[in-house]
Amino acid sequence: MKILVINAGSSSFKYQLIDMTDESVIAKGLCERIGSAGNIKHTAADGRVYKADYPMPTHMEAFDCLIYALTKSEAKVIDSLDEINAVGHRVVQGGDFYSQSVVINEDVLKTVESFNELAPLHNPANLMGVRACIKAFGENVPQVAVFDTSFHQTMPPRAFMYGIPYEYYEKYGVRRYGFHGASHRFVSERCAEIMGKKKEDLKIITCHLGNGCSIAAVDGGKSIDTSMGFTPLDGFMMGTRCGTLDPSILTFIAEKENITPAEMSNILNKKSGMLGISGVSNDNRDITAAANEGNERAKLAFEMQRYQIVKFVGSYIAAMNGVDAIVFTGGIGENDSAVRKYVMDSMTYMGIYCGDANADIHGEEGLVSTPDSKVPVYVIPTNEELVIARDALALTK
Ligand code: ADP
Repeated sequence: MKILVINAGSSSFKYQLIDMTDESVIAKGLCERIGSAGNIKHTAADGRVYKADYPMPTHMEAFDCLIYALTKSEAKVIDSLDEINAVGHRVVQGGDFYSQSVVINEDVLKTVESFNELAPLHNPANLMGVRACIKAFGENVPQVAVFDTSFHQTMPPRAFMYGIPYEYYEKYGVRRYGFHGASHRFVSERCAEIMGKKKEDLKIITCHLGNGCSIAAVDGGKSIDTSMGFTPLDGFMMGTRCGTLDPSILTFIAEKENITPAEMSNILNKKSGMLGISGVSNDNRDITAAANEGNERAKLAFEMQRYQIVKFVGSYIAAMNGVDAIVFTGGIGENDSAVRKYVMDSMTYMGIYCGDANADIHGEEGLVSTPDSKVPVYVIPTNEELVIARDALALTK
């Protein structure tokens, strides 16, 4: 049982081939610069590497190249595509139509396409990947879409509606959707396993802190609220994204600077957040180095981000009337012990205390609160590819 997982962007895609008998990664890689020169880096689990420049005018040629890497290259891992049971695709926006993953057919493609304007930076690229993959692999290999949004479809209207005229929800689907669903689902389920309890009996707050960041309130295994909203811009400060703002700021700056909606979107998505405040970088490692050298704006960026995380976690404790566990994941959540310590030090009111282990846990599973904290705080590395592979297997078995 082998599942290929694809995460396609407009000019690149990442992939993993996973053996579902033991959920191990057989090979993984990246096709880049699709639309121009094109290249692939493919690594087999035993360390063999295939690297090549390969003309990739479209995603189609990139998939041909991937098939070559998998079946014929010096780092080949299978003899033929017949060994692949299904392909699972990450698709960012499933609108309010898909509350679960789905086997892809022409109807599904059309429905997902109708959500493109809700996620113009991601969905069209995801779909381009899906269509090219179907052509390259042929009809016999089933393809499954796993949506970033579907885990959050359990949010009640009071959490997903915005306080603007109702007609914008009806006409355009303006509402909170939430993202990183596969990650929040994976780490909340794993958290229940670690605690030896049923997810149905737990209130868990999951903090996915990476380049993009979101926090979710997971009550009884269901997402009841999350910080990202209509788009992945909402919530708290991220690498380059602003998080929640007073909406009047947008019209004020647009008028002062005479900029278009597209320019404003670019500023909020690419020039804001940790980069915008620190002026140094979007990466916490660079900002840490700058802060250690005394850079005041780098220090301010950290203080803002951490304070905003604490406020979201606190608001979800209130929303769920309590919490049984808190989970950190994503590049920052898994590695940056200073962020975790700040958050735990702000929750002594909950009987949560930062444990000695926190400083030593980087990229691995572990308890980072003291063993006698009233609410345990865990690091759980996320694995969105595995979620996609498991869904693809379950739907096509
Ligand atoms: P993405 O959201 O693109 O998937 P990741 O989840 O990989 O990103 O997170 C990337 C971020 O994680 C980096 O920008 C960096 O800020 C942070 N990060 C990664 N490793 C470390 C580390 N050792 N210490 C602090 N921050 C780290």
